[in-house]
Amino acid sequence: MSGRNEQSKSAIFDIDKEKNFPDWYGEICRVAELADIRYGVKGFTPFLPWSLMTMNNMFDILEEVLQRKDHLPMLFPTVIPESNLTKEAHHVAGFVPQVFWIQDTGEDGKLEERLALRPTSETAIYPMYALWVRSWRDLPLKRYQRCSVFRSEVKSTRPFLRGREFLWIESHNVFTTHDEVMAQVQEDLETTKEVVTDNFGIPAMVFRRTQWDKFPGGLNTYAADTRMPDGKVIQLPSTHDLGDNFARAFDIKFLNENNEVMYAWQTCYGPAISRIFGALISVHGDNKGLRLPFKIAPYQIVVIPIYKGKDAEMVKEYSRKIQKDLRKAGFRVYLDDTDNTPGWKYNFWEMKGVPIRVEIGPRDIKENKAVLFRRDSMKRETIGIKDLKKRVSALGKEIDTNLRAEAESKLVGFVVDADAIGAIEDALDKGKIARTSFCTTEMEGQPCADEIKERTGGEVRGTRIDADEQPAGVCPVCGKIATAVVYIARSY
Ligand SMILES: [Zn+2]
Repeated sequence: MSGRNEQSKSAIFDIDKEKNFPDWYGEICRVAELADIRYGVKGFTPFLPWSLMTMNNMFDILEEVLQRKDHLPMLFPTVIPESNLTKEAHHVAGFVPQVFWIQDTGEDGKLEERLALRPTSETAIYPMYALWVRSWRDLPLKRYQRCSVFRSEVKSTRPFLRGREFLWIESHNVFTTHDEVMAQVQEDLETTKEVVTDNFGIPAMVFRRTQWDKFPGGLNTYAADTRMPDGKVIQLPSTHDLGDNFARAFDIKFLNENNEVMYAWQTCYGPAISRIFGALISVHGDNKGLRLPFKIAPYQIVVIPIYKGKDAEMVKEYSRKIQKDLRKAGFRVYLDDTDNTPGWKYNFWEMKGVPIRVEIGPRDIKENKAVLFRRDSMKRETIGIKDLKKRVSALGKEIDTNLRAEAESKLVGFVVDADAIGAIEDALDKGKIARTSFCTTEMEGQPCADEIKERTGGEVRGTRIDADEQPAGVCPVCGKIATAVVYIARSY
């Protein structure tokens, strides 16, 4: 890859991530060649091999879990006719302001009906579901697609974290009862934990969003949030209980076992992989650059031959053999046999976040040994070459466990109890998330949330569903008896 001919470019990355996160993020995207922001259309960014290879590994893990749980892949067109997009009134209000429209074509001129670039695909998929679902025997219908979606975000854009085109999976499911919907929501939350926390090492808190912050057109939204290095939170996957609202708007009906016509019940689930990638590099990275989990790193191992003069061919040959053996064992391995110095290569691949480095010199070869370096702790160890595969495999697991534990340790003390606006603001200023008793997460609570947002910059993220919490006292804004314990954070 880009180790070649770049001797002139410094490979040393050194930015204090916790103190200066925006600079850290912008620089790592540039020097690790994750994205190139010079494309020239606001919010649209080419993703480069190092990020795309990582995201593809993330997609593969997510798709494996979805398919294991009987969700099947499909792919819908990118365009949605305006008449479909505007069928569900709340959905329209939520998404139409963000839509990119196609109005005309090169040859025929103006289109009879405007076409939207999908901001999300409910209104593309559900008219077809209305044709496909006939009887209870067709249900449950569990499908997903891996695609990109388009939203003209008004907030400032940033590669991966907030773009106008982003990569995701959207899963759309149809059931005969609302109980099955709730079971699917639970399954989606378990999928989120398995994929995002167990595989990617990102800890998360799960919230039921407030009624004013739910998916437009749905009954309830459940979403996972994690902490970014600047103390703001970012939403990871969300899953939505759509009730039968969309079924009524799109006429998705089935005959039940008593031959009665019923409206179907639905969920949708949307893990945005490019956004999760942005969170992942932020959570795991350190002052020297990326630290990619072993499970998803494009190269899990980089082999660096170390030689002078006459040893060159022998060391390179031996290194090729090591690469071949490790590849045969199923690892993703890169051999950096470029002309750059070993020191330059160390810095470069450390910045790129490769989890394990194997260093091979003439003396190691003579002694049947190799030096292993692990990126997470920056520690070296020497091992016998016959133990290499076994040790690499164990080390990969250790690295992933350690990255997750480090990320979890950052959440200790993150939640601060606050029962007044001043205390909430104080907590947010310190990079914390505030927990407070609040009047209500129904629509009547929105003016209080707006006032909190105005005075502290924090958003009400909802109520925890992975913890049992009882409100006490009154709402810090309106003074009414509190009915919910909510979390307030500044967010992406
Ligand atoms: Zn209130």
